[in-house]
Amino acid sequence: MTDSRIPADLPDHIQHYIDGAFIDSVDGDTFDVLDPVTNENYTTASAGKKADIDLAVAAAKRAFDDGPWPKMLPRERSRVLHRIADIVESRDQRLAELESYDSGLPITQALGQARRAAENFRFFADLIVAQADDTFKVPGRQINYVNRKPIGVAGLITPWNTPFMLESWKLGPALATGNTVVLKPAEFTPLSASLWAGIFEEAGLPKGVFNLVNGLGEDAGDALVKHPDVPLISFTGESSTGQLIFANAAPYLKGLSMELGGKSPAVVFADADLDAAVNATIFGVFSLNGERCTAGSRILVEQSIYDEFVEKYAAQAKRVKVGLPNDPTTEVGALVHPEHYEKVMSYVEIGKTEGRLVAGGGRPEGFETGNYVSPTVFADVYPDARIFQEEIFGPVVAITPFSSDEEALALANNTKYGLAAYIWTNDLKRAHNFAGDVEAGMVWLNSNNVRDLRTPFGGVKASGLGHEGGYRSIDFYTDQQAVHINLGEVHNPVFGKQ
Ligand code: NAD
Repeated sequence: MTDSRIPADLPDHIQHYIDGAFIDSVDGDTFDVLDPVTNENYTTASAGKKADIDLAVAAAKRAFDDGPWPKMLPRERSRVLHRIADIVESRDQRLAELESYDSGLPITQALGQARRAAENFRFFADLIVAQADDTFKVPGRQINYVNRKPIGVAGLITPWNTPFMLESWKLGPALATGNTVVLKPAEFTPLSASLWAGIFEEAGLPKGVFNLVNGLGEDAGDALVKHPDVPLISFTGESSTGQLIFANAAPYLKGLSMELGGKSPAVVFADADLDAAVNATIFGVFSLNGERCTAGSRILVEQSIYDEFVEKYAAQAKRVKVGLPNDPTTEVGALVHPEHYEKVMSYVEIGKTEGRLVAGGGRPEGFETGNYVSPTVFADVYPDARIFQEEIFGPVVAITPFSSDEEALALANNTKYGLAAYIWTNDLKRAHNFAGDVEAGMVWLNSNNVRDLRTPFGGVKASGLGHEGGYRSIDFYTDQQAVHINLGEVHNPVFGKQ
């Protein structure tokens, strides 16, 4: 381990950003932030509580009620968003370096995520000026049009996997539509989020529009969910946290968007291009350290090619390069945090009693410290196994055989989750019919997870509620007021006629 791994100018403390100023928590409390390669504290962050959320929401509400942002022309907001995208692009190396250091993600993948973050702003900058709304004419009687309005203070709660990119995914549409925001980033990874304030100031976002409170979910996150002046919560995280937030927001009847967990199937039929399927399903579960909501973490393989697939897959998984997150040749880095490492490792042990271990199965050689898990493959996993049913969120995959299309579909649908599905077949009819029948919010046919930003994103079942992506995000962050104008005779019976 060399010092060159540590980025220059790391902050020795990370503060909140409220009403245009960096500040500590009202009670002065902090929490430790760990380097996932050594698990040593490398900085502290302010631990926000209700008092800090109150300040942030008050600032965001003032900026919404009295500030220029909600009333600006879409083109004016769009210019600011394009400047944000330019700045993020120009700092992609720095962002990737910080993200990789804080989260343990391989640097090349962190760089891709930084560029995607810029693209999210650029996309919503374009969309907001192209936005058109319904107008209807009832000849001689009525015209109807839609007044689209920002809603107010949006509460954005994000997880630690690809933190900066997932924050941009919410910040882009929330800001484009004229809302003001309070962001509560994940407590495991506060580093890259601390860059937003500088980026937004430089791009000319008015004071108070963006506010950030660090802190634990049960403190800062909970206070944001329960704040009466926050009418919208966009949440990405675990399904169990989503359930809790849903209940906590119920008394306030808030708008909720929930992007939750997954246990997505990758279904490989015998007629598929086997090499392409192996490459894609290796990437699908081991990229981003396996800490990916849409990971294809259950691979279902047709019996006639099962042995060949498992052999090829296991051999390739063993070649996946585990390494230091900052090494550009690294394919799997260190998991984000020791608590998460313990969780993933416990599933590796459970897997040894539930399936046939064909690759990995523990700590990789040569990595004595930090949260390293070898790319791990279990074959012959039964559908009632915990490693088939439960989200592991690490570099661990379960492979299960099937012998008919019906069995493949039943296996694919046999979990509480329904985020993504990947189908590998060259039979056109089967591909489309399977896509229609599989319980998943998103399906990829003969493809890894590559998503155009215009398409809907979201899960079914325990994987989510509502859709974001493209104009659906615009819908979530705006009210659509219908205005009805009478053109003809007043259209009602006269009561109490003389
Ligand atoms: P998590 O649910 O533990 O935490 C997510 C965020 O919620 C964090 O900021 C946390 O502080 C906050 N939080 C926790 N408890 C809270 C509470 N009671 N009230 C308010 N906020 C609270 O999730 P995680 O471990 O950070 O992230 C991993 C999970 O996220 C996985 O399940 C993954 O599948 C999911 N995920 C889903 C998507 C998607 O788009 N569907 C994308 C990425 C990650």
